[in-house]
Amino acid sequence: MRLSQFYLPLMKETPADAQIASHRLMLRAGMIRQEGAGIYAWLPLGFRVLKKIEQIVREEQNRAGAVEMLMPTIQQAELWRESGRYDAYGNEMLRIEDRGGRAMLFGPTNEEMITEILRAGAKSYKDLPKLLYHIQWKFRDEVRPRFGVMRGREFLMKDCYSFDIDETAARHSYNKMFAAYLRTFARMGLKAIPMRADTGPIGGDLSHEFIILADTGESAVFCDKQLIELAIPSKDTDFDGDLQPIFDRFTAHYAATDEMHDEKEFETSVDEKNQIAARGIEVGHIFFFGTKYSTPMKATVAGSDGKDIPIQMGSYGVGVSRLVGGLIEAYHDDDGCKWPMAVAPFHVGLINLKTGDAETEEACSKIYRALSVAGVEVLYDETKARPGEKFARMDLIGLPYQIVIGPRGLKDGKAEVKQRLDGEKSEVAIDDVAAHIAGLVHAALEYE
Ligand code: ATP
Ligand code: MG
Repeated sequence: MRLSQFYLPLMKETPADAQIASHRLMLRAGMIRQEGAGIYAWLPLGFRVLKKIEQIVREEQNRAGAVEMLMPTIQQAELWRESGRYDAYGNEMLRIEDRGGRAMLFGPTNEEMITEILRAGAKSYKDLPKLLYHIQWKFRDEVRPRFGVMRGREFLMKDCYSFDIDETAARHSYNKMFAAYLRTFARMGLKAIPMRADTGPIGGDLSHEFIILADTGESAVFCDKQLIELAIPSKDTDFDGDLQPIFDRFTAHYAATDEMHDEKEFETSVDEKNQIAARGIEVGHIFFFGTKYSTPMKATVAGSDGKDIPIQMGSYGVGVSRLVGGLIEAYHDDDGCKWPMAVAPFHVGLINLKTGDAETEEACSKIYRALSVAGVEVLYDETKARPGEKFARMDLIGLPYQIVIGPRGLKDGKAEVKQRLDGEKSEVAIDDVAAHIAGLVHAALEYE
């Protein structure tokens, strides 16, 4: 992509209400534009990151055996009256009326709708288990939308729902999502720690929030440092096999948010040197809730003896749009973002230091084409801006590699390469630079 054709409206001044780095940087780097309280337009640069995150989430859901579909954003109040949540949900629900006076709502979540869909199609125990998900916009009229996309009112969520005939089977579905989440966040370069969460009246140990540590996080968290070093289940994990050992390994160490925190247990069960008391961002939440919806909504299947069995359900959310902010919190410096390759809006930024100079332009075009052919996503700055401005802009948007081409280097047959993550610079022969960088990009995109 040529920068002159792209739309990258950078912001010089950051609005005073942007309190945390990710919010500031997303505005400054032209990733989002606020269109209302907690409502954002995704500008081209931000949209590319959002889509990369979404795709990783999708691939890992599919790997775990979940099946993608798409439910609408607008739902009928009638459905929510069946579960009793229409009145219970409160002011966070955006209620709408259509022209016929019918009560509608913008979905804050989809338990009711998916239960209705499954009850219409699954009749027998042989139709289960099922794991169904979609990636869809939600609306929650949050009291305090803040921190940009971190706590928006309209936000993108992946929500998956499991349907099983008994608790043993439901636990297996839960474990699939548990393992899938570990992989999902690791692929983005995040260390997300599963922490025990409140299961409410259902009880049991099947509710976890996946939290990334960050000083700006909204939750206070307590955990054992050893959790951070545990090996993530690899891509050849058999999701139809026994996943309990993975669950056991990651729940053997203490990890809880302040709502579930037990100071005494923390101090006695975790070595003092391993005690982490920090802040964190909730990027995912998985939850087994049994027959909470299937009972009032009469979602049953016939068992082998012909008797009706209420379906055992769980739900599994990932904050796709929140992750864009979360990733910046984890990867940035004073100059801007530092994207991990897997989620970077482009893999490489190519800087032409002397636009208008025929030789420099030709060298850049050659590299640009070679990289594109090699499947590398390049943002090519061929604008007339000053070099200083080009460098600052590339640092701000934070592409993993920068290739800098100017007349002086060309004379020696050299290109300068900068790695954004550690700032390391090196010189590479101009004829080799495209192949060299393509190799680095492809290597960085590989995952276990
Ligand atoms: P929180 O405790 O942060 O309000 P929640 O427990 O209400 O979140 P869930 O219903 O579990 O959220 O939703 C699943 C995921 O969706 C969360 O883990 C979070 O990553 C994301 N999410 C929830 N609310 C928002 C929001 N207002 N803006 C952006 N992402 C959100
Ligand atoms: Mg939650």
